[in-house]
This record gives sequence, structure tokens and C-alpha cells, in this order.
Amino acid sequence: MAKEKISIVVPCYNEEEALPLFYKEICKVAKDMKTVDFEFLFINDGSKDRTLELLKEYAKKDKRVRFISFSRNFGKEAGMYAGLSNVVGDYAAIMDVDMQDPPEMIKVMYKLIQDEGYDCVALYTKSHDDYGFIRKFLTSCWYKLIGAISSIKQVPGARDFRLMKRRMVDSIVDMGEYNRYIKGIFGYVGFETKWIDYRSPDRVAGKSKYSLIKLFKYAMEGIVAFSTTPLVISAFIGIIFCLIAFIAIVAIIVKTLVYGDPVSGWPSLACIIIFMGGIQLFFFGIMGMYLSKTYLEVKKRPIYISKETEKDL
Ligand code: UDP
Ligand code: MG
Repeated sequence: MAKEKISIVVPCYNEEEALPLFYKEICKVAKDMKTVDFEFLFINDGSKDRTLELLKEYAKKDKRVRFISFSRNFGKEAGMYAGLSNVVGDYAAIMDVDMQDPPEMIKVMYKLIQDEGYDCVALYTKSHDDYGFIRKFLTSCWYKLIGAISSIKQVPGARDFRLMKRRMVDSIVDMGEYNRYIKGIFGYVGFETKWIDYRSPDRVAGKSKYSLIKLFKYAMEGIVAFSTTPLVISAFIGIIFCLIAFIAIVAIIVKTLVYGDPVSGWPSLACIIIFMGGIQLFFFGIMGMYLSKTYLEVKKRPIYISKETEKDL
């Protein structure tokens, strides 16, 4: 009987320091798992350092190594999409190259899928001890918020690292949306997932590619991609303010008829106008966010552009 194959998708952006360490470790794991074949698909996401050179070196001497090199930096989401849409294995895993997703865990994950029949095994962490205070606080607020406004289940502290069966991989790739938010996509496609609580180690080399601003933008992407609640809330608040205005108008008319019309209250009127203007602009902004994402979706631009692959060697 032919051996099963596990494909490992590894997005890399300026990872010349971490890549050799990762490659060494994943090769060790592949050597230990004699009953399965492996394929390593690295995505070079427009790196400016020696990442691509290293990948070419590995691909020349190791048949299991494949790579897709993007024409520029498209982001990790595009990298994961490119990887999952090109792998051929019976199982696929997404892994960061910085060893925060320990290659050793592949053995545990594969065994769990084999023995207990899950479609997917994924890691999450209860405590983000590796994050600074601000990132930890904002992350916990974020999960509470998205839990409240989205019907798609997202496990707090979930990493993108997971081993999935082919069926699940195909469903993720079938979701061909341009604005990709994989944590939501995992939840959307469903399938039976086994969660392992695992505190990830620190990055082995190099620096994190995500600043707080980049993370904030990513969080906004997640809200717009998987919840329309902000639009509903803005419409609801609009109705409440209309009602308040209507009651106030009636009260003023009655007051004028009964007591005459003393001209007063200009400062408070100015405050109300500014307040209402602010609320309106805020909700226009929310609508604008959805509209801009729709605009990008309608244009149907490619999610990534490949410049070269191992086949060009
Ligand atoms: N990454 C990528 N493109 C980007 C940013 C990151 O392919 O634009 C890769 C990066 O090389 C790493 C993974 O995504 O393998 C996770 O990035 P990082 O470790 O910087 O994120 P963090 O763990 O700090 O959230
Ligand atoms: Mg990392």
C-alpha cells in the first residue's frame, strides 16, 4: 500500500536566520515518521534577505522541498492560501518557520488523527505569557469582542498551526475570498477539531513581523470578514436617536405652546449637533469599511502572484 503523505506549508518572510533551524528540525521529524512521506512547501513572501537562496539550495538537494516565491510581499494570509492550494498530501499542516510551532508536534497530531479519527488537530494557548502586557490585554479583548459579534466560533489563543485532512484543506481553498482571515475560515468550514493546550516557545531567531498596528488592521479584517453586527448596531443606534429626537420635538412644541418661546439653550444645541455629527461620521466609517472590502472582493484581483517555483530550477 502506498504511504500517506503529509504536506507542510511554511510561509517565510525575511527568515534567513530561522529557516535553517526549522529545516533541520522538520527533517528530523520526517526521519522519525517512517510510515509517512513528506512534502515541504515553503512560501517566500517577497523576502529581501537570503531566504529564497536558501530555499533554492534545499530544493536542489532534497526532492521533498518545494517553494513558491511571490513577486512581492503579499502577507501571511496569502502565503497560507498559496500553500494550501498547491499541496498534494493526504494531510496538510501550516507552520511558522520561527519554531513557535514545534515540528515535533506533527507526530502527536498525526497520531491523534489516526487513533481518534479527528479531521484536524490544532494548538491553542490559554496564557499568552510570551506577549507583552498591551498585546496580551488587547488580544483578550479582541476574542471577547469577536465571540460576542460573530456566529463563527473562534477559539481564543488558537494558533494557525494545525494538521488537517485533505477534505478540510479543500474546503479552505474553496473559500476563495480576497480578504482572507484564516482563523475565521477555520471556524467557518467546521470539521471535527481536537484542541491541544500548548504554550508555544519564543521565536528562535529574527524578529516578529507583526507590529501592533499591523495586528490592529488584521483584527479589523477579522471583524469585517466574519460579522455584520457593527452594521446592525449602527442601524439600531440610528433608530434610537430618531426616537429621542421625535420625543424631544414633541416636548419642545408642547412647551412652546404652553409657556411661549424663550430663545435659550444654544450651547447645549451646539453640543448635540457636534455629538450627532461625530456619531454619523463614525457609522459612515463602519459602512465604508464594509464597502471597501466589497470593492476589493468585486475586483477579483489574484490573492498572490508567483514569480518562481522549484520547477524553474
Ligand atoms: N510571515 C509571512 N509574511 C508576512 C509576515 C509573516 O509569510 O508578511 C510569516 C513569518 O515568516 C512566519 C509566520 O508568518 O513564518 C509568522 O510570523 P511572525 O512569527 O512574525 O508572527 P508572530 O508569531 O509574531 O505572530
Ligand atoms: Mg512567530
